[in-house]
Amino acid sequence: MDTDLVVIGAGALGLSTALHAAMAGQSVVVVDRDQAGSQASGRAAGLFKSVQADELRTRLARRSIARAISFGDWTGVELDVVRSGSLLVARTDEHKAFLMTEAHQSRSWGVEVQDARAGWHSYYHGDGNELVLWCPEDIYIEEPVDLVRAYVAAGRLHGTELLECEPVTAITTSASGVTGVETSSRTITAKAVVDAAGAWTRQLAELAGGDVAVAPVRHQLLITEPVADVDQADPIVRVVDAAVYLRPARGGLMVGGFEADPLPIDPRTERAGFDTDDVPLDLGVLRKLAGQVESEVPAATASVVAEHRGGLFTMSPDGRFVAGPVPDVPGLWVAAGCNGSGFSSSLALGEALADWICGKDDRYKIDALSPARFGLLTDEAMISAGVWQYAHYYDPAA
Ligand SMILES: Cc1cc2nc3c(=O)[nH]c(=O)nc-3n(C[C@H](O)[C@H](O)[C@H](O)COP(=O)(O)OP(=O)(O)OC[C@H]3O[C@@H](n4cnc5c(N)ncnc54)[C@H](O)[C@@H]3O)c2cc1C
Repeated sequence: MDTDLVVIGAGALGLSTALHAAMAGQSVVVVDRDQAGSQASGRAAGLFKSVQADELRTRLARRSIARAISFGDWTGVELDVVRSGSLLVARTDEHKAFLMTEAHQSRSWGVEVQDARAGWHSYYHGDGNELVLWCPEDIYIEEPVDLVRAYVAAGRLHGTELLECEPVTAITTSASGVTGVETSSRTITAKAVVDAAGAWTRQLAELAGGDVAVAPVRHQLLITEPVADVDQADPIVRVVDAAVYLRPARGGLMVGGFEADPLPIDPRTERAGFDTDDVPLDLGVLRKLAGQVESEVPAATASVVAEHRGGLFTMSPDGRFVAGPVPDVPGLWVAAGCNGSGFSSSLALGEALADWICGKDDRYKIDALSPARFGLLTDEAMISAGVWQYAHYYDPAA
């Protein structure tokens, strides 16, 4: 089999990069060792967030929101998006100051952020002393697998080939760089290869002698049974001092959050075939997080849990995406370092990366996200930096 581009990994980042490369005229084959969306992407909360810590991420986040809303127009495949808006809530002085700074910065980057008040929503009952910001641009996708399916359908429409249940076992190289991949059942020659293997990115890059600084870290959420007083039209709520996010889901409430002492997991040291179903889940972590917002969101602790799911984020040492050419391996590219936003930013990140790979002159430059920025790091340093970024998801400047 021969193609312009092989994308390893049919998660949100790989599928978006593949779709955009195909729309730019490349022949593209996507290979996944499992089924599309079976790992992190199919288990996401589906949240999109316009307020981000720097201008580049803000640009990517807002572009992604716009592209998700207009998905049907530019791909020909419909995608349902919930235009709920979101509330950012801070209850401590420190976090109020942090949110004020974020609001000021975000407004200067074009984001719509308004002062608001809690208390008028069905499931969040503030006491009036918190700082609340209203972010009307924010959206969510009710079932994350819908975005994956839309990418797959759009990819097919635009000529990409998807090979599922076919692990990549080698990335082949010559003196001048990458020549393709070997899978469990075939050889594919290609001019370029994208490593978008999520939590397995590092071990895939190593197959070609490359080094990509990402550390997988566990993340979990729960969805309650339907709760009568949760209005499904209500917005997303993010309580930054508790590092908890909430949204209506399936008639109940979704509760997720960022533990202060997270669990890093390196698939390279796990059994062969380790996948997301092997990530140990701990409901106690979510109960503790939900307990921090119990007085404002009684439904978070009082309701019966209908679903508890989790997976792995790929955290980078500086909390930013890792996308671009892998140093010392010409022809190998990476799309990783999701840092908890890979699902929502995939639309714009995949677009920008595909344009870069295709050598488009008018591409939106994401060179600042290149994997070369880290140099050589020990595993220990990389994991401890990634864990820090995870624990400070809502207040990275703290
Ligand atoms: C519980 C949870 C909630 C989250 N909520 C959000 C959210 O609200 N918003 C948001 O933006 N992000 C969220 N995220 C993060 C988001 O899910 C990830 O950033 C995103 O899905 C990463 O996509 P990906 O394509 O890099 O990885 P994945 O979806 O994991 O895809 C990688 C693919 O690579 C494949 N692969 C691995 N090894 C091989 C191999 N050898 N050969 C071939 N294929 C291989 C895997 O099978 C997999 O399908 C959440 C994550 C979790 C776990």
